[in-house]
Amino acid sequence: MLLKEIKDIRSIIKDWKKDGLTIGYVPTMGCLHEGHKSLIEKAVSENDKVVVSVFVNPTQFGPNEDYDSYPKNIDEDLEICKKSGASIVFNPDKEEMYFNNKSTTVSVSELTNVLCGAKRPGHFDGVCLVLSKFFNIITPDKAYFGEKDFQQIAVVKRMVRDLNINIEILSCPIVREKDGLAKSSRNVYLSKEERKAALVLNRSLSLAKEELKHGERNSKIIKDIIVNELNKEPLAKIDYVEIVDSESLNDLEIVNTTALIPIAVYIGKTRLIDNFIFNI
Ligand code: AMP
Repeated sequence: MLLKEIKDIRSIIKDWKKDGLTIGYVPTMGCLHEGHKSLIEKAVSENDKVVVSVFVNPTQFGPNEDYDSYPKNIDEDLEICKKSGASIVFNPDKEEMYFNNKSTTVSVSELTNVLCGAKRPGHFDGVCLVLSKFFNIITPDKAYFGEKDFQQIAVVKRMVRDLNINIEILSCPIVREKDGLAKSSRNVYLSKEERKAALVLNRSLSLAKEELKHGERNSKIIKDIIVNELNKEPLAKIDYVEIVDSESLNDLEIVNTTALIPIAVYIGKTRLIDNFIFNI
């Protein structure tokens, strides 16, 4: 069922709660793919009812980012949600979600000054604001996030802890194309040539993973392997390559604890992210 108004979804959720049903929630910006589908299916397997929000959130885009051109395909999104067993697709308009004179910010001060937070100022404030709103509207028991946006999960978990929001945050592994490219709504921006070039993200991470498996623990050496591989691809421009503690997101000079190895790379004009977790 497609709903666009907050009052309508609230009324249905009130009935579900009266009946003692559990609610799973999957936040998305639409243009759904197998990655989103995996989150919805996990939510369906663990809850009585599942809500998927499809909302391109203006407050998480910077002034020179792709808010206006962000891909949309609501008909296919509805089809995917239906097939995956979601109960409601919540697709509010911008005006339904935001007041003209909104004056509240939600800002997590730790974990947000590094990686994508450092490169996209204000991004996580926008994410936290919209998720606080959706959490208040939907009041789910569990919410599902993809590990492709690993920093987002860390930030959301911190927000939920700090604000005593009674929602369990769960994460799901990265879903990839057969050739290894992490699925992303932004992949539709890639030309044929860029699509081929984009494989360099996963290739460079795979080289780093091998090196770690063979016992290398020096972050600089591992980073250099990734950077060298990325630099071989003329269409790729590095935004960042980091090796950080997977919980604090602080830099790791030596990989002596569970590490997150995240990268952000422009392929042409399209900014793509990927990562892997290495458990020692
Ligand atoms: P988005 O629509 O890009 O905002 O993503 C909505 C949710 O889907 C986020 O929790 C993402 O981390 C997750 N997601 C996006 N791509 C993938 C993927 N390839 N594998 C798993 N989860 C994903």
